[in-house]
Formats: sequence, C-alpha cells, structure tokens
Amino acid sequence: MARTQVAIIGAGPSGLLLSQLLHLHGVDSVVLERQNRAHVAGRIRAGVLEPGTVDLLLQAKVGERMLSERLIHDGFALGFAGKSFRVDLKGLTGDAVSVYGQTELTKDLTDARVEAGAKLLFEAGDVAIDGIDGAHPTVRYTHGGRSHELTCDFVAGCDGYHGVCRRSVPPAAMQNFERIYPFGWLGILADVPPVAHELIYSNHERGFALCSMRSLNRSRYYVQCGLDEKPEAWPDARFWDELRCRLPAPVAEAVTTGPSIEKSIAPLRSFVVEPLKFGRLFLVGDAAHIVPPTGAKGLNLAAADVRVLYQALVEYYRTGREELIERYSEQCLRRTWKAVRFSWWFTSLTHKFSDDPFNHRLQLAELDYLTGSAAALGSLAENYVGLPFEASAAAS
Ligand SMILES: Cc1cc2nc3c(=O)[nH]c(=O)nc-3n(C[C@H](O)[C@H](O)[C@H](O)COP(=O)(O)OP(=O)(O)OC[C@H]3O[C@@H](n4cnc5c(N)ncnc54)[C@H](O)[C@@H]3O)c2cc1C
Repeated sequence: MARTQVAIIGAGPSGLLLSQLLHLHGVDSVVLERQNRAHVAGRIRAGVLEPGTVDLLLQAKVGERMLSERLIHDGFALGFAGKSFRVDLKGLTGDAVSVYGQTELTKDLTDARVEAGAKLLFEAGDVAIDGIDGAHPTVRYTHGGRSHELTCDFVAGCDGYHGVCRRSVPPAAMQNFERIYPFGWLGILADVPPVAHELIYSNHERGFALCSMRSLNRSRYYVQCGLDEKPEAWPDARFWDELRCRLPAPVAEAVTTGPSIEKSIAPLRSFVVEPLKFGRLFLVGDAAHIVPPTGAKGLNLAAADVRVLYQALVEYYRTGREELIERYSEQCLRRTWKAVRFSWWFTSLTHKFSDDPFNHRLQLAELDYLTGSAAALGSLAENYVGLPFEASAAAS
C-alpha cells in the first residue's frame, strides 16, 4: 500500500497550490484528480486576483509569468442610471487587483508540480475516503485500469462543490448554509479588445452586465439571464445587443464585438459548510464554500484556505503541535463569511431580482449614496481588494 503525508483530492487551484506550498516546505503529498490534464487546464473561470492571492502565488514560486502578463487594475467602474462611476481602489486602499485568468494560473501550477516530479495523478477515478476519524486515513481510487490504496496522515478535500470529500462526512456532523439566486450569468469569451481598461459592473433595469477581460486582446463579458435559459438560445448577435443595452451609452458605443470562442451559463449560489475539518479531513476552496462571482472572491477564498492549511500542516510536521490544525476551520470560516456577505451584498446591489420597480429604485438610491460617500466607497474597496489577513488571524 502506498503512503504519503497529505492526500490531496482535486487538482484545481486549491489542490495544486496546496501541494506546491507543502512541497516547498518538505511535506509530501499525492494529488488525485478525476479529470484529464487538458480538461483541468481548459476550464474558464476566475480572473481577478486579490493582492493577498498574488503574494501567496509568489511564495509558492509560481508567480513569474503572472507578474509579467497580468493586468493591474487600480479601480473598476459601476454603471447605473445611464452613467459610469469609477471606484478608485488604489486611492481608497493603497492596493490594486490583478487580472490573470484561472486557466493561466492552473497551467503555471500544473507545470511547476510536474517539473518538480510531483505525484499528480490525472484521471484518478472512484476516489473513496475511509478512516478520517483515525490517525491514518485511507484513500482508495482507480488509475490506469487498476485499484489503488493510499494511506496518509491527512486528507485535503480540494475537489470543488461536486466533489466526494464533503459527501464522505456523516451529514449529522455538518451544517450547510445555502442561498440559490433566481438567475445565472451568461458569459462569453471573445478575442476582441476589452471595452475599457478596467472592469465595469452595470446595474440596469433589464438586469446586470459585467465587462471583464483576460488580456488586452481577450474579453470576457457577462449578462444576467434566467436559470432555465440555454446558451444555444443566445446567438452572438443577441448577446452583444443585450450587453450593449445594459451599459451606459458611451460604454455601449465603444464595445468591440466579434465571434465568441466560448459561451456558457453559470448559476449563482452562496454556500458554506461548517465546520471545515472533520477528524483528519480538511475541506478547502469550493468544496467548502461557494460565492456568486460578483465580488470575484471564489478563487481568492480558495487561496486563503490554502494559506491557513499549509501553514498549519508545516507547523505540525515541524513541531508536532496541532493548535493551528485545530484552528483551521474557525480561522477560514471567519474570512469566508465576510466574503459571503460581501458577494451577497454586491450581487443584491447590481442584479435584477424582480419586476417590482420599487426594488430597482432602492438599488439606484444605494448606488447614489455609495458613490457619494467616502466611507461607503472605502468599505466597498477594502472588501474588493481583500480584507487583510492579519486582521482575521490576529483576532482569532
Ligand atoms: C463563471 C465563474 C466566474 C468566476 N469568477 C471568479 C473570479 O473572478 N474571481 C474568483 O476569485 N473566483 C471566481 N470564480 C470561482 C473560482 O473559479 C473557484 O472558486 C475556484 O475554481 C475554486 O478552486 P478549487 O480548486 O477549490 O475548486 P475547483 O476549481 O472546482 O477544482 C476542484 C477539482 O477537483 C476535481 N474533482 C472533483 N471531484 C473529484 C473526485 N471525486 N475525485 C478527484 N477529483 C475530483 C475537479 O475535476 C477539479 O479539478 C468563478 C467561477 C465561475 C464558475
């Protein structure tokens, strides 16, 4: 039977980053990923990185390409009532966010892991976890047509919302908190220059729209859509018309359209499981919590969990002390709930929830207040760039 110190389930950003950081600190891990490498590398998702996430990637020695290719955004715009207002993140917080696609990040992490000779197994099927209550859990899986068994000291469940790790915990031992929003995001990727250097979040009576990008020549645009809608019902021309309709006129006129190279619909949900540690199993990233993408927090929260967990595990292997391990859940949940609150609030402020014009008037009043109040803008900006780690850790 094979053995490792930490068995990591899932080779998304959480699993790869955790494995890389543990490796740099002399802790052995095996990563088991259900999909093949090309599938994992091709998933188009997040794009906005908080400064804290950038720091962690640099600590993990996978930040070189990101530093040269990222777009640094000192602010973003809020569109509403036909006008556009710039939120000066840099001026309000001293910090900026970085735009660097999750696909690129995943590629950098995978390359670094493969180069270091990591035990990173793609197409590992039927993962099952046993013995998380004991000192040496077992992970069973199939790979290359054979069954395998791996014993370990800890299991890191980095296998996303639909993964097996959270489902391995007895339901009575955990509590789920969930909010499903009554809409989704229809997103397209197109090789056209972005309409603006910075992101534009637009509130419109027809629904929310977001102008985002992956590079100077690749744009990512979203419009709020119904949960039951299908991408096939949205030919490119319909998408561009709807997008432009929801943007302030000067922005709409400047949009460069082109053929989409990807089009998909993502439902929006807030979800948190408590606690995040069950015996020797830790839940990390999307396996533990989901936020609507409005605040660009999902990947950043995943990185924040990894930061806490790798430090706790390194401390354990260096000194045998378990205090940080025992505090993993509480420490991550404090940050998580603040991000859940922010993402929920930002979603509530910018999306159409009903046809009731009273609600839209309230949103416009709040946007008017927000953009006229230094205090309110400061709160928005500090949440958007990511709350300081010292504050969450020191108070815990
Ligand atoms: C449309 C969209 C836009 C987003 N925009 C942003 C953004 O701007 N900023 C941001 O911070 N976040 C954003 N997010 C969220 C972000 O993409 C996720 O939070 C992030 O991918 C979480 O990483 P993870 O590694 O925890 O989970 P995942 O990326 O889901 O990775 C989990 C991995 O586990 C594997 N797996 C699952 N089950 C098993 C199993 N049984 N056995 C083995 N392996 C398994 C999966 O194949 C996958 O590779 C966005 C998400 C979406 C959908």
